[in-house]
Amino acid sequence: MSNIAEVQIQCPYCGEETAVQVEFTDTPSDYVEDCTVCCRPIQFHVARDEDGQPSVTATREQE
Ligand SMILES: [Zn+2]
Repeated sequence: MSNIAEVQIQCPYCGEETAVQVEFTDTPSDYVEDCTVCCRPIQFHVARDEDGQPSVTATREQE
């Protein structure tokens, strides 16, 4: 069973959809990765819902 999934997210800055590889081994977790299109820092929140399904939220980096 793999703990890595490819998830489609939408950049909160430029609105481009991009696929990211996310690891769900240690959830919930937060990290920042630059958008591949506009290079601005996207804050990722990685968690599992009640059914154990992985979910990823992409927001603007908090100041
Ligand atoms: Zn972007």
